[in-house]
Amino acid sequence: MFHPATYFPINELTSEALTRQKVKLFVARLDTIHPVVSGNKLFKLQPFIQACEAAGHSQIVTFGGPYSNHLVATAFYCKQRGIKAIGIVRGERPNELSHTLGQCLSEGMELHFVSRTAYDSMQEKEQSSTLSDQFGPCQIIPEGGFDSIGASGAGDIMNHPFLQTVSHVCLAVGTATTLAGICLRAHPSQQIIGIPVLKNMTDVEERLQILTQHSNFSHLTLFGEYHFGGYAKHTPVLLNSMNQLYINHSIPTDFVYTGKMMFGLMEQIQLNYFPAGSTIVALHTGGLQGNASLPTGSLVF
Ligand SMILES: *Cc1c(COP(=O)(O)O)cnc(C)c1O
Repeated sequence: MFHPATYFPINELTSEALTRQKVKLFVARLDTIHPVVSGNKLFKLQPFIQACEAAGHSQIVTFGGPYSNHLVATAFYCKQRGIKAIGIVRGERPNELSHTLGQCLSEGMELHFVSRTAYDSMQEKEQSSTLSDQFGPCQIIPEGGFDSIGASGAGDIMNHPFLQTVSHVCLAVGTATTLAGICLRAHPSQQIIGIPVLKNMTDVEERLQILTQHSNFSHLTLFGEYHFGGYAKHTPVLLNSMNQLYINHSIPTDFVYTGKMMFGLMEQIQLNYFPAGSTIVALHTGGLQGNASLPTGSLVF
């Protein structure tokens, strides 16, 4: 039976720059949990799957866009547990399905394409009875697992004993659900660094408040300048740095989340943000399947 491993490997990176700055840098390889499914998504989904099984529902309804790693992860996890997965996809059905949606279908997910307006209204909490009218009794998971249940699942990443010993944990931020879980479970002496992958993401604190019912995150820092133009946007500088990371350290990253996170983290290390003696862990949350949408030859891995 599938279960996200608590003990994903953690690799140390070594370089002259790191030695010079007197910091240690590790990468927590949640990307190795599964080749297609983002590691953090499985952690976020786990308590929803448990809730579904506890309620005796045989199906899950969730939401996402055509490039949603969350949809693929839900399709995969449901298949593993014998639960029927229904994906509500934002926008008209395209003539050719995205690679991501193709993965969802091959994992047995049933896809329903709806207009943006219908998508937004179906996501409202008050609509849950309409969804069960349409599909029958079901567990509903909001887009991206954005819910305190999802945050608590993501917090289980911190069960890894090594993560409890480090001074800094750094991660990419999309819906901020994973960030919320990490903030909840980190020790007050640990610093959390979030790197938003969306442009002008000014509502992170509000999101954390909704997800955790807490409002004072004094140990949280956001590096907001590493979105490279916005969600899923990329530049030659970004792709080049991903190639360099792979050549020097054998770590493949994705251009939507972890490539931007590693770029920002490395730059801030160079800029002396981290005090000497810091032990930093970057969470490699996965997402590598997203690279399939880049022109061939963009990446050396
Ligand atoms: C979804 C995703 C994230 C962002 O997680 P949130 O909980 O939405 O902030 C980060 N990395 C990867 C690879 C993802 O697929």
